[in-house]
Amino acid sequence: MEDETKIVEENVTEPGSGKETEKKENQYEKYCQMCRRPESVAGKMIQMPNEFCICNDCLQKTFDSINGNQFPYMEMLTLDPSMFRMGGEFMKMPKVKKKPKPAEKEKEAGEDVPALDLKNLKAPHKIKAELDEYVIGQDHAKKVISVAVYNHYKRVADKSNTIELEKSNMLMLGPTGCGKTYLVKTLARLLNVPLAITDATTLTEAGYIGDDVESVLSKLLAAADNDVERAEHGIIFIDEIDKIAKKRNTNSRDVSGESVQQGLLKLLEGSEVEVPVGATNKNAMVPMTTINTKDILFICGGAFPELEKVIKKRLNKTAMIGFGSELKDKYDDDAMLLSKVTVEDLREYGMIPEFLGRLPVIFSLQGLGKEQLIQVLKEPKNAILKQYEHLLSLDEVKLIFDEDALEAIAERALAKDTGARALRAILEEIMLDIMYEIPKDDSIGKVTITGDYVRGCGGPVIEMRG
Ligand code: ADP
Repeated sequence: MEDETKIVEENVTEPGSGKETEKKENQYEKYCQMCRRPESVAGKMIQMPNEFCICNDCLQKTFDSINGNQFPYMEMLTLDPSMFRMGGEFMKMPKVKKKPKPAEKEKEAGEDVPALDLKNLKAPHKIKAELDEYVIGQDHAKKVISVAVYNHYKRVADKSNTIELEKSNMLMLGPTGCGKTYLVKTLARLLNVPLAITDATTLTEAGYIGDDVESVLSKLLAAADNDVERAEHGIIFIDEIDKIAKKRNTNSRDVSGESVQQGLLKLLEGSEVEVPVGATNKNAMVPMTTINTKDILFICGGAFPELEKVIKKRLNKTAMIGFGSELKDKYDDDAMLLSKVTVEDLREYGMIPEFLGRLPVIFSLQGLGKEQLIQVLKEPKNAILKQYEHLLSLDEVKLIFDEDALEAIAERALAKDTGARALRAILEEIMLDIMYEIPKDDSIGKVTITGDYVRGCGGPVIEMRG
């Protein structure tokens, strides 16, 4: 300490300030070990480990040289100094865009992404019309989601505070590959809001191996380019939600089932959560920021296998009593069975009532039939067939799929039982040889894919130019 401080009289570099000479001879003062100015001249010193003192100006210069002026050091000062050094290297700090204060907000309005405005909200029929361009079928689901999203953002934009509007978080049921994720992705893109997609199977109760539930907020923050305000108006899609149903007949602690549902409760409801920036793990040495989840729209989706049995059991129970009793197997081939789901069925399945209570909008999607799979192939704005046609058109080759080929592709996809998900894999397989061979020969002008080629008992029809 002796050699790090000096007697004021010896070190005053600015004569005439008067203050210094008033101090007694035996009084010590801190001084900056970089520019060597004392505290009375350079301002309050920042105490670093090992009795090292540095003035504000020098610290600013140091940080400026580290991060090219990206990160004001005042923000760094609020952090633990130990995080700046890792193995002798300075860590690269992620850039956080803090929520602007109300006064700053007004200044920024108009130059950044516009704040939510009731007048600019798309009406449900417009949202649905835009979804129609991409998502085939699922009319009911598109209608429900358009209304729920519209109401959600109306609630967010409403500042009147007269009636508290409830959140319209959603639960979406439907077999794999019917477009659940695709619907949400398309929706977020159309609304220009950040979207985080997470898999419920990766979540576990805090403290156990796996991601804790709050990690979904880090993903959303990353999707919003670390802009807290944008993240707070985003959408979180939690897929495979049926996998966190309460485990039956288990004696061990249910860390990935019921506990995860419990953990999600406060996020769904709306709460302030400390979130690491640039990582999904709180233990990582990264800065933290606070996100309020009250305006984040949560959409949960799941295939809920075996749920149909639960619904059928309930329906049969009521239908078999009394004079009006119906045939026992009436619901066996009912394709719309999933749409008859009730909250009681979901409780029976293993979802806890508090969790279901926070997902007031429940709807289902239907599995896609052969006709719809053909539509998925050719109709959406970015349909797979259009993508291949465009790729070949860049080589000035015309690609045609005849009707029989489309049917054959749809039949193969149906057999795989993974919905529209199978289509891309099948097409990749069919198109591999064509995409390999065509660029070899400049004289090819047109390729027609036939049903026989798809079924493996023939070849494509190739026509030459001219
Ligand atoms: P899941 O219901 O299992 O979440 P996805 O939404 O991930 O299924 O669907 C997989 C792919 O299949 C999507 O990327 C999309 O290209 C296509 N797809 C599925 N359903 C539809 C649909 N109804 N309309 C258009 N494309 C669809």
